[in-house]
Amino acid sequence: MQTGKINVQTENIFPIIKKFLYSDHDIFLRELVSNAVDATQKLKTLTTYGNLPIELGDLTIQVQVNKEDKTLRVIDRGIGMTEDEVVKYITQIAFSSAEEFLDKYKGTDSANIIGHFGLGFYSSFMVAKEVEIITKSHIEGAQAVRWVCDGSPEYTIDPCEKEDRGTEIILHIAEEEESFLDEFKIIELLNKYCRFLPIPIQCGMEKDYSNQEGEEDSKEIEKPRIINNTNPIWKQAPVNLTQENYTQFYRELYPMTFEEPLFQIHLNVDYPFNLTGVLYFPKVKNQFEIQKNKVQLYCNQVFITDQLEGVIPEFMMLLHGVIDSPDIPLNVSRSYLQSDAQVKKISSHITKKVADKLEEMFKNDREDFEKKWDDIKIFIQYGSISDEKFYDKAKNFFLFKNIDGKYFTIDEYKTHIETLQKDKNEQLIYLYTSDVETQHVYINSAKERGYDILLMDGFLDTHFINLLEQKLEKSRFTRVDADVIDKLIQKEETLVSKLSETETTKLKEAYDQMVEKEKFSVVIESLSDTDLPVLITRNEFMRRYMDMERISGQKGIYGQFEHYNLVVNGNHEISQRIINEENEEKQKQLIQQMIDLALLSQNMLTGEKLSQFVTRSIQMIN
Ligand code: ADP
Repeated sequence: MQTGKINVQTENIFPIIKKFLYSDHDIFLRELVSNAVDATQKLKTLTTYGNLPIELGDLTIQVQVNKEDKTLRVIDRGIGMTEDEVVKYITQIAFSSAEEFLDKYKGTDSANIIGHFGLGFYSSFMVAKEVEIITKSHIEGAQAVRWVCDGSPEYTIDPCEKEDRGTEIILHIAEEEESFLDEFKIIELLNKYCRFLPIPIQCGMEKDYSNQEGEEDSKEIEKPRIINNTNPIWKQAPVNLTQENYTQFYRELYPMTFEEPLFQIHLNVDYPFNLTGVLYFPKVKNQFEIQKNKVQLYCNQVFITDQLEGVIPEFMMLLHGVIDSPDIPLNVSRSYLQSDAQVKKISSHITKKVADKLEEMFKNDREDFEKKWDDIKIFIQYGSISDEKFYDKAKNFFLFKNIDGKYFTIDEYKTHIETLQKDKNEQLIYLYTSDVETQHVYINSAKERGYDILLMDGFLDTHFINLLEQKLEKSRFTRVDADVIDKLIQKEETLVSKLSETETTKLKEAYDQMVEKEKFSVVIESLSDTDLPVLITRNEFMRRYMDMERISGQKGIYGQFEHYNLVVNGNHEISQRIINEENEEKQKQLIQQMIDLALLSQNMLTGEKLSQFVTRSIQMIN
């Protein structure tokens, strides 16, 4: 027997491993199975390119839990190791200084650090009090060896019997970690980390149901089922895949999600780095349905994380699917991923790819793109707001929808309204409504003048409008109820007032008495006699900021300025009647009725005031 000492400079690395990996003991299994997969892949490569006369046979990796002797085994039929290789690869740890390690990652999310130092195998000491490696190299005539270590830097290594080529790792599970002897738990972990590994993995023991009396025909052996899909869709060539394949894979990824995705983008990048993946656009109708952390990050088909905040762009967190890159450092903490320059590059490249694909879809089949638009708008707005480069691409395929359900690109819409708004030199006004029902009165008056109205009823529309105003020159967005229409879009001819100056003052004073001063300002305007007698309008700027405060859930400063204009149409017949009414009681009643009607058309008349209005209306009709 040979003994040796694991070559680390610090006395004992195991307490460090245990201490620093405390939060995520699970990953030892991922490490061991990935090693088994690597060893198997290497063997396959050797036989393919090295022309070695090796019978590959069944390469399935076995994970076995034994409650009796409290062991967990990971068994592969890969390349195996000679004694020299065990000494070299397992015991000479490239672990320059434990102190440095501690300093560097103090206070960070250190759960996944260890593998970064090439210590994957040693993570098994998080759960095992003793680890054995029984291994036999694929080289012809190799002697099998058995390595044992109990968690101190001392180990033993000696020759042993092993029939089959490959490696068997035996973990003698520590008392406080016995939950890892539960087969269901192990299957769950394999499902999490190893679901798409390229070599088949089985978990559990073969169950022998054959007849004990030894009858020939009754041999029934139940094999444990294969855990993983060894050829996941993102590794396949898009040309060989149908939409049904993609949808099927989506169901495999999210068995609890019943809604089907809208469409997907298959990523396949080989330069300047390697990246594959499939990103699905889910159906999202409102903010409450948005679920983050659905995108899974893989490295060579090994699951790393689905906590991608700060790693991929914000808006991409709304998508579903898989990203796989061998260039994303495996086994590192999330804070490390966030600051890694390579990861940043990859992330912005994905953004570009997604934008390119959307543009291609728009160009190839606009009709179909329009059909999808209402569902994908939120992603595109989110992307544009949070990433300038994304906006630069998205501006070519972003679609406006007007209240007649017609779609326009940003450029098309500009041309469209330029022809409707006569004076092209001034600011172009983008009229919009956020609610066709409640803003009906205002929509009508804009329509009467032949203007086009955009439907902006989405969750992110207010924010997006702010962005567009910065990007589009000489353009302003105003909601249809921001002012009377002829003030929103100025016309060449202005209407003259039918009232004398004294009459105007009289009318204003009469209305002033009837409104809450802090909330309403009375303005007398000379509108057309076909316009409504009284309208309530709300300054675009103030309202928009209030909306944004509301969306972001803050109660900020703008909320205090809930203020409206009560616009009285001096040219309307009723205004004349109010001025001429000598009975003060009757005059007041008439004004109140006009105000209430205006409030009603803005959906602002409620409660007691609404009841009073109903009663008064009945009286007046009687
Ligand atoms: P890493 O996998 O990051 O290199 P590990 O500590 O997990 O670090 O493994 C160290 C080395 O031990 C591997 O690079 C490999 O050469 C060898 N090794 C580990 N597991 C196996 C295995 N199942 N079969 C063959 N060699 C293995």
